Amino acid sequence: MRKVLIIGAGGVANVVVHKCCQNPEVFEEICIASRTKSKCDAMKAVLDGGKTKITTAQIDADDTEALIELINAYKPDMVLNVALPYQDLTIMDACLATGVHYLDTANYEPLDIPKFEYKWQWAYREKFEKAGLTAILGSGFDPGVTGVFSAYAMKHYFDEIHTIDILDANAGDHGYPFATNFNPEINIREITAKGRYWEQGEWIETEPLEIKRVYNFPQIGDKDMYLLYHEELESLAQNIKGLKKIRFFMTFSEKYITHLNVLENVGMTSIKPIMYEGMEIQPLQFLKAVLPDPASLGPRTKGKTNIGCIFTGTKDGQPKTYYVYNVCDHEACYTEVGSQAISYTTGVPAMIGAKLLLEGKWKKPGVYNVEEMDPDPFMEELNKQGLPWVEDFNPALVD
Ligand code: NDP
Repeated sequence: MRKVLIIGAGGVANVVVHKCCQNPEVFEEICIASRTKSKCDAMKAVLDGGKTKITTAQIDADDTEALIELINAYKPDMVLNVALPYQDLTIMDACLATGVHYLDTANYEPLDIPKFEYKWQWAYREKFEKAGLTAILGSGFDPGVTGVFSAYAMKHYFDEIHTIDILDANAGDHGYPFATNFNPEINIREITAKGRYWEQGEWIETEPLEIKRVYNFPQIGDKDMYLLYHEELESLAQNIKGLKKIRFFMTFSEKYITHLNVLENVGMTSIKPIMYEGMEIQPLQFLKAVLPDPASLGPRTKGKTNIGCIFTGTKDGQPKTYYVYNVCDHEACYTEVGSQAISYTTGVPAMIGAKLLLEGKWKKPGVYNVEEMDPDPFMEELNKQGLPWVEDFNPALVD
């Protein structure tokens, strides 16, 4: 009997739960546990009655002892963490204490400083190895599928990869003047941070949104995209041997950037707590409370996402380029699982990573980023589980 404890009940969790229920031969039992139990119960109400047995629980995932108690009571084979990045370490600690495997979609981040670094989670390598447990980090789309694409390119098409450009385009329109497609706090922290890319063994820092390019995305068309730091750059720079340069670009409309600038200029994106009527509040968390809930965007969002990687390098001494990407339709996602494509493109790979772990295909003691695992079974699953990919061996490159 394979059991999975899913932590978090937001947009991504909704997709994970739907996708687990579509694969009941692997996910025989799931428990959805989160801070607000009513959200878990609402998901159960939609999907109950199928082959996967669903239970729910209330949990504060910042509390390791409470997590240990829940895990000991439910006895899952693994924990699938789709809460927020702040909970990664407490959940990993609880997994170690109870002897269960672990998977997440975003790297640990301290609440008070926006730092996207793997060092805290990589420090658990020896502990997981000694315990004979697997921890898979970053099994969403980016990070996640982008790492799998990189491992696949390396395994099948290149002797050496010299450059990787990760391009993340969202041409979805939700009709609001301003809203973020996933957790606004995480999203805005990411975008307002300085940009950074890696070249010849060094990190090169840019001002936030300083580097802009226009790219003609397949099935979407021309979009403005901006260079951002993104967490998979750190692991891929280490794990793709011989790499000389890696960058990450994300598209934003002019309207989005204008709103963001105003919010930033008036101090609303700050994570430094302020006193308001005798209460300490964080402006960014307050902003999150007034913005539309990303989960509510699903029924309103039209258009497509296109996320992929462009590689250059050599094969048999000859120069080679390769672009692999997925195009996902917001409305089709909503029809299938009741979430828009951003949650869908994260939740599906999270379920696939968990499925491969449970099937033993991605099980090895230690802490691993997805590109350290065999990409082939994952690529196969992407095609089967709703995120088919397209290859182009002669793509336009980003200058
Ligand atoms: P949401 O904000 O929609 O959901 C987060 C959920 O976690 C909420 O249900 C929230 O509870 C719950 N939660 C927060 N704190 C705690 C806590 N202390 N204890 C228990 N539960 C808690 O986020 P998303 O679903 O959009 O994102 C989920 C994760 O996926 C995030 O880590 C995000 O960074 C990551 N992500 C990864 C991507 C990728 O491609 N790799 C892309 C997009 C997202 P409550 O309902 O009470 O607020």
